Amino acid sequence: MGQTPRFIARGSGAWIWDTEGRRYLDFLGSWGPLVLGHAFPSVVAAVGKAAEQGTSFGAPTLAEVELAEVLVGALPAAEQVRLVSSGTEAVMTAIRLARAHTGRRRIVKFAGCYHGHSDGLLVRAGSGALTLGIPDSDGIPSEIAGLTAVAAFNDLAGVGNILSNLGEDVAGIIVEPVAGNMGTVLPAIGFLEGLRDLATRSGVLLIFDEVITGFRVAWGGAQRRFGVTPDLTCLGKIVGGGLPLAAIAGPRAIMEQLAPSGRVYQAGTLSGNPIAVAAGLATLRELADGTAYARLEGLGEVLETSLRPTLARLRRPVCLNRCGSMFTLFLGVGCVESYRDAVEADTAAFGRFFHALLERGFYVAPSQFETAFISLAHTEADVRQFAAAAAESLAEVL
Ligand SMILES: *Cc1c(COP(=O)(O)O)cnc(C)c1O
Repeated sequence: MGQTPRFIARGSGAWIWDTEGRRYLDFLGSWGPLVLGHAFPSVVAAVGKAAEQGTSFGAPTLAEVELAEVLVGALPAAEQVRLVSSGTEAVMTAIRLARAHTGRRRIVKFAGCYHGHSDGLLVRAGSGALTLGIPDSDGIPSEIAGLTAVAAFNDLAGVGNILSNLGEDVAGIIVEPVAGNMGTVLPAIGFLEGLRDLATRSGVLLIFDEVITGFRVAWGGAQRRFGVTPDLTCLGKIVGGGLPLAAIAGPRAIMEQLAPSGRVYQAGTLSGNPIAVAAGLATLRELADGTAYARLEGLGEVLETSLRPTLARLRRPVCLNRCGSMFTLFLGVGCVESYRDAVEADTAAFGRFFHALLERGFYVAPSQFETAFISLAHTEADVRQFAAAAAESLAEVL
């Protein structure tokens, strides 16, 4: 973004303060985890209490079982859970499980979807890799990248082609069921159902990377919202309540292949760390009351109804994509349904937009290819103010 980033001193509710004392209404939410806002009292209390009891044991605790039970209860196909410390790890393990379970090598991913920074998945990835113009990182051997086939999001025929050519050797299809890392891109009607069918017919595991969407777009994530059940689910971000925690969940027949019960190796010194588990559980407790997702949807609707009329009056097109409390404004393009559409956006204009918002006291991700997050700490008035600031800023930069 061509400036020294703001260094953040503290956060409370929907607000963050930088080291120079400036205050911003935060729509980044630490890239997704902070669905309750910053320093939510019950989360802070749970973290403090857990820390007083000891920070790590490397042995089972009751709280991690409790967290696993919440996840199993929320996800339709989940019978067992493995806790890890980052989304990257969750995806690495899901892929290894898929390969072991099917005895096949290849993975299908979608251009613009990001699944963490492991070698095999930094292939036409979104997020930071997309912003920096290096969707393929240096340091990844072509033999490893070569096992990843890339399809276009929302293009079922393309996936069908890959499977008819390579199907016998495809272990898994991994997808963000609502893409968040090329900006927010929704699944077209029938896309997720179609992936489910294709995967089942080819004996391929369907892996939903719900690191963003899990407990964001519904209790139980996109698989509940859209009614499509994957074989394996990767979770992160919200389930850790702002601390390092992530998870893989799936049916017993697949999950029990993990060591020590099975022959698929996985380990982590701090996996299931008691402080992270406490933060995750405290966060999920706040979301379980049945009103949280209706409120998030309502706030998203306020944003959308406040912004749509102004978007229509701008000199150039702007595409607003939204799913619940996730949204992206793509500048200079009419409609974004895939990575190919997303990269048509005017990133220079987005840079000006980012700074115009920052000057007005609103903080969003410093990239066109990211999602903005509304939290339960935002009020309707906050969201309306953001919409007004965004409208003014767009008129200025487009
Ligand atoms: C953030 C993210 C990851 C990686 O999680 P980390 O905790 O940053 O390793 C993986 N998949 C998706 C969809 C993500 O948004």
